[in-house]
Amino acid sequence: MLQLLILKLHTFEKNQNMNKLIILLFASLVPTYTISAQQPIKSDPKFVTHYEKNNFNRTPRYAETVEFCKLLDVNSPIVTYTSIGLSPQGREIPLLIADKDGLTSPDAIRAKGRSVVLVEAAIHAGEPDGKDAGLMLIRDIALYNKFPGILDNVSLLFIPIINVDGHEDFGSFYRINQNGPEEVGARYTAQRYNMNRDFIKADAPETRAFIRLYKKWMPELFMDIHVTNGADFQYVSTYGVDHCGFLNDNLLKWTNNVYEKKLIEGMAAAGFPIFPYFESYGMNQRSGVLPNNFPPQYSNGYASANNRIGILVENHIYKPYKQRVESSYNMILQTLKIIGDNSRELQREIADADNSSASGMFRKDSLPLMFSHDFKDSIVVDYLAWKDKKVKSDLSGADWTYSDRTSPVTIRLPLFTTYKKELMVKLPKAYLIPQEQIETRELLDLHGIKYSTLNSDTTINVETYRFVNPKWSEFPNEGRVTLTTGYTTQKEYVKFSKGDMIILTAQPKVKIIAHMLEPKSPTSLVYWGFYNLYARPATEFWIRLNYMEVKGREMLAKDSVLKREFETKKATDPAFANDPQAILQFFMTKVRENVEPNVNRYPVGRLL
Ligand SMILES: [Zn+2]
Repeated sequence: MLQLLILKLHTFEKNQNMNKLIILLFASLVPTYTISAQQPIKSDPKFVTHYEKNNFNRTPRYAETVEFCKLLDVNSPIVTYTSIGLSPQGREIPLLIADKDGLTSPDAIRAKGRSVVLVEAAIHAGEPDGKDAGLMLIRDIALYNKFPGILDNVSLLFIPIINVDGHEDFGSFYRINQNGPEEVGARYTAQRYNMNRDFIKADAPETRAFIRLYKKWMPELFMDIHVTNGADFQYVSTYGVDHCGFLNDNLLKWTNNVYEKKLIEGMAAAGFPIFPYFESYGMNQRSGVLPNNFPPQYSNGYASANNRIGILVENHIYKPYKQRVESSYNMILQTLKIIGDNSRELQREIADADNSSASGMFRKDSLPLMFSHDFKDSIVVDYLAWKDKKVKSDLSGADWTYSDRTSPVTIRLPLFTTYKKELMVKLPKAYLIPQEQIETRELLDLHGIKYSTLNSDTTINVETYRFVNPKWSEFPNEGRVTLTTGYTTQKEYVKFSKGDMIILTAQPKVKIIAHMLEPKSPTSLVYWGFYNLYARPATEFWIRLNYMEVKGREMLAKDSVLKREFETKKATDPAFANDPQAILQFFMTKVRENVEPNVNRYPVGRLL
């Protein structure tokens, strides 16, 4: 699936001075345009962004950003400013809609045959590249008509700042290793959530606002723009799209063979060659790299599990801010072009993927909730790196290896590209969830999962999980005491009540359902602690052990089966027979079994 990437990288000029190349290519890319009578004059200072006015190394604060968004709205019939909701500190989360006809509803836009691209910036507010890129691009499209026809078959939803409160925790002390802008916001929200782990559990109000938008629009493609840390290399932008199979097969192929291929080509032509966002394999970053694996607690993984394309853009922290913004600008522009040019074909692939997920056939094979590298196949790609330089540090005295940015090198790098399926689950026909699980119900509603409710009390034969050896995290993760647990699987008759929820898995969001409800998922509600009270041993049992001297006699007198069991155990187990505490405990255990037949049972039933 990365075949095309190799070809492209191989044809890319080797050992060039990249900076010179980028400048040349970028200069040749700047299109010529004509200004018609109705259009504003380019030099009108009010349309120059804060970033452009400030030597390309400052990013606007929240208020200036919203003001610029409203300016675009007022001055262009194709741009609409709106908000997707309020942050905990009371800020409107801004959204710009750019549609050729000024349409603002998904139905009206889809009726024109257009696809929808959603771009989000500043989820980690210290990483604002996408904000400045998107504001310029929308201006260039809407006011300057720089890219005529670009919105013929695609509309753009743009969130310049999603983490609006974190963004206003502003200063020069965050991301000190980032090469501009001069001041930025914080990684976390005001409530200290990392929103890019929050796409399933949706603890942050900002995440819930985002998911409501996502559910309403179901954008064909969602781009989330970040800045990464890590190894130094020539690329300004790296990217992550699904290579594993979180997407249905047909859509995975389309994503890799059409979108990814064309994006690589388009970005190279624009002077910003891109490379997959990767992890080093082993200690040496040059011994092999791996494209990453994103389950749906991450933004792009959330899109994949919804059968929609998700792309993570990770700009490189050491690149000057101007280069990062320009590369982001081109990532959005190229994406609009590719999705617009292939709008109907992509819509057909998505409809096929949705229909396939919603068909009973989808349950035939087990569903993998994760993937891992099988190291079976690697391909060799050209990787644009810097030469390593070793010196004796005059600061620390250590042997210091650093990347020499005046010496570009092209390295032949093995890239592992094949995955094996992990955490397989056999999907049930339906899940049954007791109505008292109100947090789960709220999440079902939020994510747009369809369900019905029982109209009478019923006892149903379902498969259940009983937690075995539950282990809670010592420290909270994202504020939650998380649970990893084994479980046994059994069939049993369980009483469900009128009003309990039945969720059929034959629906397009089946993968979101499975990631929420199957305890094995790395982002299941069980993992996040929603069901902690069902996995912990009962402690509300205030009967003293020596009361069994009374109760034990009573039980033996009433129950001949129990009497036989007790006498056999005494006859065959001398340690038991000679341990008064164990004997009393024998009766206590029986009493508890009656009181707590469902102890350690996960209350979500699986109807097979
Ligand atoms: Zn980030």
